[in-house]
Amino acid sequence: MSFQLASLPYSMDALEPFTSRKTLEFHYGKHHSGYVTKLNAALEKKTEYRGQSLTQIIQHSQNDPMVANNACQIWNHDFFWQSLSPKSGNLNHEGLLNALSKDFGSFDEFKLKFMAAAGSLFGSGWVFLVKNSLTGQLTLTQESNAGCPLTQKNQVPLLTCDVWEHAYYLDYQNLRPNFVEGFWQHINWDFVVSNFVEGS
Ligand code: MN
Repeated sequence: MSFQLASLPYSMDALEPFTSRKTLEFHYGKHHSGYVTKLNAALEKKTEYRGQSLTQIIQHSQNDPMVANNACQIWNHDFFWQSLSPKSGNLNHEGLLNALSKDFGSFDEFKLKFMAAAGSLFGSGWVFLVKNSLTGQLTLTQESNAGCPLTQKNQVPLLTCDVWEHAYYLDYQNLRPNFVEGFWQHINWDFVVSNFVEGS
């Protein structure tokens, strides 16, 4: 059994100038791809994960960092690429807009809190918008390094931004907030809405 690197949902230059082809060649072609290679190598010596999906491996490997870190990074990157769109768009879904207003004050407040969470995350990691599948409440979570909300019960990820330096350093150097502002302009809201609607 081995995992394959999922295809990018767009071409390597589709996100320019927000994210350059050069960044995607390294980020997808080296970093993301490297996690797949490392997970497959780690799984070769283990029988307990045979036949499990990536999600199941993430949920069963919390005491096995080599497997957990690489499995989470594969899942997080797949989810990050899908969170992005070459085209900028707007959120028009009334249900999600209402939920964001209820839990963050307003859509504009949600954006401010998302930017603050991305800017204040110390070191490498991820910012997720998640929905509690029992209560419906939306929250922002900061995940360090290879953290992934799928390890928490009832957490349904809706959106993520990768704030590892490899996501932005070639294009923005130390200016993470500029990268996150660019990210905001390229959110695939259709993807976020489908996660919101299905995640109950
Ligand atoms: Mn990354």
